[in-house]
Amino acid sequence: EQTLAGKTALVTAAANGIGRASAEALAARGASVIATDIDGDGVTAMAEGTELIEARRLDVLDADAVAALIDDLPPLDILVNCAGWVHDGSILDCDDTVWERSFDLNAKALFRLTKAVLPGMLDKGAGSIVNIASIVSSEKGAPRRFAYGASKAAIIGMTKSIAADFVKDGIRCNAICPGTVQSPSLEDRLRATGDFDKALADFTARQPMGRLGKPEEIAEMVCYLAGDMAGFTTGQAFAVDGGWSI
Ligand code: NAD
Repeated sequence: EQTLAGKTALVTAAANGIGRASAEALAARGASVIATDIDGDGVTAMAEGTELIEARRLDVLDADAVAALIDDLPPLDILVNCAGWVHDGSILDCDDTVWERSFDLNAKALFRLTKAVLPGMLDKGAGSIVNIASIVSSEKGAPRRFAYGASKAAIIGMTKSIAADFVKDGIRCNAICPGTVQSPSLEDRLRATGDFDKALADFTARQPMGRLGKPEEIAEMVCYLAGDMAGFTTGQAFAVDGGWSI
């Protein structure tokens, strides 16, 4: 197993789900982790009792807060862009507000934070950026995921662009495309349908393995891509989707 000792990582949306599991897994491998979330109390609670995780409140939509936090931190080795939002609906359900929120949170915030972090990585001559996209993106269509899929496809485009621009500078940038993964926001989406059990059965049925993913199973891929064992890997979108996209 590779060690991440001596590396400093920042994870967004780390109070719950994939972000939380990623922050915990990175720290378990020895990285110093700055775990951020808009839910400051939530991220403080998850960091409690762990020496290697420092909690900071960060709303990734707040450009000033992003700039101030990065100014305040030492140069990073690892950035995990995890914050995201699902809008449930087709193109006919999408209005300008939905479009803007989807692209602001899923795409623009990632662009801003990555742009703020990159100069420090370039000074070091090394860095790994891991973007949490989704299999529902340019990889695959799914019903009622118009603005979500479009904005997650943008993440894969940014990933490849950043990888291409900085491939000679020691910077790697990859994306992970999860299938359906257990998380608090997934439960909210299931509840919002009005029939939690049926929605859970439907979401599970579309996963060929007959089960949902666990956040820890995404976090393993985050750790691999973050570390030096993935040193020959950049600009790729990795499906961790229980076979949904086969
Ligand atoms: P989640 O949605 O349950 O938790 C998201 C976290 O993001 C919460 O702690 C919330 O406080 C935080 N957050 C929300 N807005 C924020 C903001 N403006 N700034 C900072 N933090 C903010 O977790 P999840 O379902 O594991 O999703 C994490 C990422 O994984 C998202 O980008 C999501 O699109 C992606 N993803 C999830 C699934 C899935 O099935 N769960 C599948 C594919 C991709």
